[in-house]
Amino acid sequence: MRKLLLSLRGVKRIYTSGEQKIEVLHGIDLDIYQGELVAIIGASGSGKSTLMNILGCLDKASEGSYEIDGVSTSTLSSDQLAALRRNYFGFIFQRYHLLTHLNASSNVEIPAIYAGTSNSERRENAVKLLERLGLGDKTGHLPSQLSGGQQQRVSIARALMNGGHVILADEPTGALDTKSGKEVLGILKELNAAGHTVILVTHDPSIAAHANRVIEIRDGNVISDVTKEDQEQLQDGQPESIAPLDQNMIKSFGALFMRFKEAFKMAWIAMVTHRMRTLLTMLGIIIGIMAVVSVVALGNGASQKVTNDISSIGTNTITIYPGKDWGDMRANKIQTLKVNDLDALKHQEYVDGVSPSIQQGGTFHYDSYEASGRITGVSEQFAKVKGLKLESGRFFDEEHVKSIAQVAVLDQNTKEKFFPNENPIGKVILLGKLPCVVIGVLEKQDSPFGGQDNLEVYIPYTSAIARITGSRYLNSIVVKVRDGWSNAVAEQLIVNFLSIRHGAKDIFTNSSDTILKTIQKTTGTMTLLVSCIAVISLIVGGIGVMNIMLVSVTERTKEIGIRMAVGARKSDILQQFLIEAILVCLIGGFLGIACSYGVSVIFSMFVQSMSMVFSPLSIVAAVTCSTLIGVVFGYLPAKNAARLDPIDALARE
Ligand code: ADP
Ligand code: MG
Repeated sequence: MRKLLLSLRGVKRIYTSGEQKIEVLHGIDLDIYQGELVAIIGASGSGKSTLMNILGCLDKASEGSYEIDGVSTSTLSSDQLAALRRNYFGFIFQRYHLLTHLNASSNVEIPAIYAGTSNSERRENAVKLLERLGLGDKTGHLPSQLSGGQQQRVSIARALMNGGHVILADEPTGALDTKSGKEVLGILKELNAAGHTVILVTHDPSIAAHANRVIEIRDGNVISDVTKEDQEQLQDGQPESIAPLDQNMIKSFGALFMRFKEAFKMAWIAMVTHRMRTLLTMLGIIIGIMAVVSVVALGNGASQKVTNDISSIGTNTITIYPGKDWGDMRANKIQTLKVNDLDALKHQEYVDGVSPSIQQGGTFHYDSYEASGRITGVSEQFAKVKGLKLESGRFFDEEHVKSIAQVAVLDQNTKEKFFPNENPIGKVILLGKLPCVVIGVLEKQDSPFGGQDNLEVYIPYTSAIARITGSRYLNSIVVKVRDGWSNAVAEQLIVNFLSIRHGAKDIFTNSSDTILKTIQKTTGTMTLLVSCIAVISLIVGGIGVMNIMLVSVTERTKEIGIRMAVGARKSDILQQFLIEAILVCLIGGFLGIACSYGVSVIFSMFVQSMSMVFSPLSIVAAVTCSTLIGVVFGYLPAKNAARLDPIDALARE
């Protein structure tokens, strides 16, 4: 008994174009048995291709039923239909439908990619098939380097890649010269002899004459169905009946990964073919990522520099001022900070060092030089508290303070002004009316709040009180907090301590911590602002990517159709375009990071005092961001591609 493979009952195909309904097939009844070589013949426009597409599950009947091996196709999902096209049918088209950018063996491999066959096995099978079809030396050729007959043989090899139990050939010789046409016909007959069921569409009776059974179609109706005598001699059922639907279920992780890898390769090829376009598309992403990463690095660099500067002047210092706050009108009159406050603070456990500050402007004289500057009375701990370093000589000690000594430590500005070519140590400088012996010179100070321009001379505060100001009140007290104490806690303790001592809160404090936080907040605001601009650039870039992906889908509609015809699932197509979009954005992201690094190199050439500091977090965020942009803006075009109807897509040129 011959086995019934394909069975059509009352199949109609109605095309709707606008209001109009065109019925192309008018209720076809047809049975095709295993091992047959069937020719479907009819005039152009009679509905042969329409019928063929329904038989090959590329198209669906509008009415009627179609059973394959006893399974009704109307119940199958689109993935199951794709599995049938992939594993059961092998399509051969009049115009070959090869992918122009892939070589012969890669074209042959496509159905096996979607079936999840391993790389090496795929390659081996493809080469074997091409050898069997006489193209052993052409495996690396592109379709454009092959003749029509050779291209058709490549497409036959592709049809056989996953088995090709039923070969559907729609005018396979239509575009070929007589000789090549004969060869292709010969191959089809051989395949039939080897057990493949072959269905051949043609408008040429001389070709149909080679078939065992000839079905004639006219205007969408079967008008004759003739089986030759020798039909009985068909060897029956050589390729065993396959369970195509089960094969779809085999989804190992390895096969999934393989398909992903192939989609990646395809996306890469597509990108490389349009290098310039891809680069321009990436530009928005590159600029956006570069801006974000650079600004974050700049902000990091700035706050790192401030942190370093502050720790160099003593990380944990708290300055105490009289009054309620800055700008307190009475601050000068309030005379609340006294020397005995200083002595009391010195003995608190959270205090590491303490120094008062009494300031008075004055005119300095030395030799014939004269300049105005500021005299600051401080304690012997001032250098330690402020983290000042001496260039030469020494800072005054406790003895100097106790003995109200007339000694002075100069800053760099004063030294340069009065002793440009001379060692000042041991010289006597006149501060206002007070002659002092210079015992030390400070190193040049780089403060985070700008370098100083004025001349500054430090003398023991006792000398300042006794010989210059004459009052016992202090302008401020600076406290160095002991390691292990937090600034905030110490600040609170100081406020409480002095408020109790004075019976009222008549002082206010300023901590180096607060300054640091203010600066960090400022850079944070700046980062946020520029990041907003960068986000806009990224969105614009993303829209660019979406636009170019939509163009790409339109351009490659035919390719999508071919891939679907040989068994790609909707998800395969979606994946391929999504990967392409992500890849564009991701490479854009990495280029952006590289550009930002370039910016930092240029930046370091012009700005010595600080450098850009890249944080791994900002780079990870940038990469994640560009991937997300790829997903978000690539999804719509990819979805469009996956939604395409294989028949429509194939018809596109
Ligand atoms: P054949 O392959 O026998 O030359 P087809 O099956 O391609 O014929 O087409 C049969 C008829 O269906 C033709 O008249 C054609 O115009 C019509 N047809 C084919 N595809 C469509 C379509 N997508 N929309 C409307 N009409 C179509
Ligand atoms: Mg046709």
